[in-house]
Parts: sequence; C-alpha cells; structure tokens
Amino acid sequence: MSQPVPAPIEPRVYTRDQHPISRAAISENALKVLYRLRDAGFRSCLVGGGVRDLLLGREPKDFDVATDAHPDDVRRLFRNCRLIGRRFRLAHVTFGREIIEVATFRAPFGAEDEEGNIELSEEGRILRDNCYGTIEQDAWRRDFTINALYYDIANYAVLDFTNGVLDLHEGVLRLIGDEPEQRLREDPVRMLRAVRFSAKLGLRIAPELDHAMHRHAGLMTSVAPARLFDEVIKLFHSGAAVTCLDELERFGLFEALFPQAAACFADPELGLERRAFLVEALKNTDARIRDELGVHPAFLYAAVLWAAVQREAQARLAADEDPVAAWQQAMSVVLERQVQRVSIPKRYSLVVREIWDLQQRLPRNQGGRALKLLTHPRFRAGYDFLCLRARVGDADPDLCQWWTEFQQTDEARQQAMARAPGGAPAARTRPRRRRRKAQSAS
Ligand code: ATP
Ligand code: MG
Repeated sequence: MSQPVPAPIEPRVYTRDQHPISRAAISENALKVLYRLRDAGFRSCLVGGGVRDLLLGREPKDFDVATDAHPDDVRRLFRNCRLIGRRFRLAHVTFGREIIEVATFRAPFGAEDEEGNIELSEEGRILRDNCYGTIEQDAWRRDFTINALYYDIANYAVLDFTNGVLDLHEGVLRLIGDEPEQRLREDPVRMLRAVRFSAKLGLRIAPELDHAMHRHAGLMTSVAPARLFDEVIKLFHSGAAVTCLDELERFGLFEALFPQAAACFADPELGLERRAFLVEALKNTDARIRDELGVHPAFLYAAVLWAAVQREAQARLAADEDPVAAWQQAMSVVLERQVQRVSIPKRYSLVVREIWDLQQRLPRNQGGRALKLLTHPRFRAGYDFLCLRARVGDADPDLCQWWTEFQQTDEARQQAMARAPGGAPAARTRPRRRRRKAQSAS
C-alpha cells in the first residue's frame, strides 16, 4: 500500500521528451489562450483535468489555464472574455461553445487577499478569497495531487509540486497535504470529486482519504444545494455512474445527498428491489454516455427519486386519498424535500414530474389516448423510464412491448391496437384502488 509522499520544495520537472503530452492533443483555443498570455509576458500553464487526462492518454473534457496574469489583465487581452465567480474570480474566454477557464495563481488558504479579507464559515469552510500567489502556492491549493500538474507553455515541460505524476502512475487518488480532514472541511465537495475521479479513472482512494471521508460524509449537508446540483450531475454523467452510486453509499454520502431515496433503499423488505431500478437506470446512463447519446438531468433525478415518490404515493393511497391527488401531492412533497439538500432547477423538476406523470398515463392506452400520448413532449423519456422499470419487475413488460410496437407500426394497425378489446395490457398492470373521495387532498 502506498504511503503519503513528502512533497518536494522544488517541482519535479518532466521535460518535453519525458512526458507524452503533445500539443496536437490540446484544443486549438486553449493553445491560443496559452500563447497570447505568454506573448504578453505572463506565465501560462495548462492545469488540472486537462494535464491529468492527457498524461493518462484520455481525451480531456475541458481545458483550464493557470497564470500569473490578474483577471483584469486577462480581460484586456481577450475580447471574448467574461469575469465570473464571487468566491474565486475567474476569467472565461469563450470560443463558440468552448470555454477556456483562466484562473490567476492563488495564495494558500488562510492568506489575506489584497484587501485583507478571508471569510470562513464556522466549520472552517472557505467562503470567499481572492488572494493571488505563486505557482507553487497555487499547486498546494488544489484538491488532489493528480490535479495539480502544470503543463508550461514556455518550455512544454510538466511541473509537479505534489508528486502527482507518481500517484498517477500508481493509480492512487490522494488529497494534497498531510491533513486530509482539514482539506475536506475546507470544501466538502472534494468528497464527491474523490468519488467521481476514482470511479471514472479507476483510481484507488488513498487509505487516509478513505478514512477521512467515512468520518466526514455528514459535512456534505452544509454545502449549498445549488452547488450540489452540478456536482451530482457530474457524478452520474461521468460514464461510471453505477460505481459512483456504490461508492457514495459506502461513504454515507448518498444518504447525505438523497435522504429520502436512501431511506427507501434501507427498507428491509423492498429496499433491494427499489435500488435495483436505480442501478438499471444508471447502467443505461453509462451505456448512453459510452455511445455518445444524449443524457438528461431530469431523467436522472426522476430515477433517483422514483422509489421515494412511489412510497409517498402509496402511503397516501393507503390513507384513502384520491388517486390523482395522491400522486400529484407525492410528487410535490418529494421534490420539495429533496431541494433542501440538492437543488433541482424548475426547468428540470417540471420534466421530472412529467416523466413520473407518464408512468400513470402509459398504462391507459385505449382509444384515442394512445395516439395523443405519442405526441406528448416527454413521451420518449416516459416510455424509456417505463421499460427500465419493466426490466426489474416494477412494470409490466407486455406494456413496454405494446408501446414499442405501437410506435413502430403504421397508422391502421395503431388504430386497431388502441381499439383491441381488453387486448392492451392496461388490464394486466397492477390493480389500482378505484375508490375516490370527494375531498381534495392537500
Ligand atoms: P474534469 O474537468 O474532468 O471534471 P478537473 O480536475 O479539470 O476535472 P475542474 O472542476 O474542471 O475539474 O477543476 C479544474 C481544477 O481546479 C482541478 O483539477 C483542481 O486542480 C482545481 N479544483 C477544482 N475544484 C476544486 C476544489 N473543490 N478544491 C480544490 N481544487 C479544486
Ligand atoms: Mg476541468
């Protein structure tokens, strides 16, 4: 088992013949930014995931640049530049759909910024800091050793201040510095990043980090829900969603993010079955990412929270609520509770509701309803969701099959299918209580 390696004071320098990074693998726009900064007399390096992925022979998702130019210098150099961020001021240089993020080297956590400010929460979390520093200080501020490698455009060398190259070779994910607990306190989101990078890149989490994550999973509840929305999407759209789920659960992070779903999965009777549906949905997401097909955040949230909404609806039906109102209320309640931990922007939660709602409507496929449902803007998502449920015994496979045929056949046959007396499998779905109450459920 690997031990934490004491950090060198001088960086290890891997000259251009000692590493495999070729400029041909770097986006032209990133190169443009790097060269223009260099030509204006600034130091400019590719940093973070770009360098890490190139060293691993993978295609980077995006390119980040670190420089000693201040954000205002960057803005002067690039017309297509926007300054963003309150906690950290960053420059975004945009080229069509590609954004190159340019960050000024940062001083160590705890240093005062140029106006003498640092802001910490009671738990020791960094709230705001804009203090500029040297490249070495910048390296120490980053999260994992493998994310703190710099590709210097001045001489095409890779600079390694934290032994990241060694960790990359050994396949170890390690927080920078020798106080992992403090690094997790500073920013608990690093735990989610650890899960994502280890799952996606097949890295082992270093034992001291593993230990600290087990102890500090609860810190996740202090992170702003809006920030967690993006992080959760990155986890589950990483192409390794099934492993991410296992790892989130292993550390108790899933419970911190999705308490309602975790409670459903912990149910001694139905837990495994309910979780099986989510696993099926995540396998499907991983396959779609691999095949470069689209994935939608709403589908993901609909899947994660499906067990919770079913449970809530069933409790309401058991209390004799009107079935339509029971489902509507269940959807609202589950989403309202969820956004206290991880926010879901309205434009997505509306789609989540539509996908869930279609689960009630797809079994009613007789007469004109079926043709009308085909034109529903979320029909495809609702149908995919239904078929995933069918795979784990949560819906009737014949119903899924019926809709598959119905979409593929010609109009005449569609009419016949929708008319078939009792032929549609609606009658074979789970019996639902018919009793209605006059009261409105609220
Ligand atoms: P990818 O873009 O593939 O998701 P990445 O490592 O580039 O991975 P980004 O979110 O783009 O991740 O961040 C760029 C770099 O910024 C990281 O590599 C890391 O050095 C630093 N960084 C990002 N988030 C944090 C954090 N929460 N704490 C410390 N450093 C961070
Ligand atoms: Mg990146």
